[in-house]
Amino acid sequence: MRTPLIAGNWKMHTTPSAAAAWMRSLLEDLDGIDVSNVELLLNVPATHLAVLAPIVAGSPVAIGAQDVSAHAEGAYTGECSAAMLLDAGATYAIVGHSERRQYHHESDALLHDKVVACHAGGLTPILCVGEVEAERESGAHETTVLRQLSGGLSGIDLSRSDDLVIAYEPVWAIGTGKTATADDAQAMGAVIRSFLKGRYGPLADGIRILYGGSMKPANAAELLAKADVDGGLIGGASLQRDQYLAIATAAPR
Ligand code: PEP
Repeated sequence: MRTPLIAGNWKMHTTPSAAAAWMRSLLEDLDGIDVSNVELLLNVPATHLAVLAPIVAGSPVAIGAQDVSAHAEGAYTGECSAAMLLDAGATYAIVGHSERRQYHHESDALLHDKVVACHAGGLTPILCVGEVEAERESGAHETTVLRQLSGGLSGIDLSRSDDLVIAYEPVWAIGTGKTATADDAQAMGAVIRSFLKGRYGPLADGIRILYGGSMKPANAAELLAKADVDGGLIGGASLQRDQYLAIATAAPR
């Protein structure tokens, strides 16, 4: 069975010092709550990682980055390499969030290089895919997602299913309050699984496929109960400790 990954995405919110206090409170809140059936992860701004790393050490909470450079080192002002993020405490990095695709024009070819950089630098990539509203309305959503998967994973070999996470995030559902129905999330999860089986064979059974897009305590249980929804990538609700915990505890046991 795949352990559900309950991955927050804080985007550009909070400061390192506010995040430290938030995290200490989360760990207190977790005292006495059984979260052994899930993996807890918060993808935070890069500035927060080294502050949060000693706080979460030895706890059930992991931290990750929201982006990573495609390069290992060099004259790339403003970028952080996978090795830097790992050393600062990250174990995962989000790759190709729709906000990076939209505002930073990140292409599938670049995202492929970021997946390679994660693997070379010791981070697990969470590769985001998802269609915009017009693509969903015209029925092109599967074609879009398959194109993003083919481009992002072209030539990427895996030796362990834990070395890759896919997040299906329909762009029209991110931060809008609109959620894909659990059946739609499952339908796309199955399409992604079938692509992964074609590419990675039996390893695909262990690769986690997350759903992201206005996941909240009210819809989490139904989404997480689906066979090919192995967790969530959660934006807004992951900034609220009570909502994040309510989603985590809604995962099937
Ligand atoms: C996200 O940031 O990936 C996301 C899904 O955001 P939200 O949960 O706020 O829709």
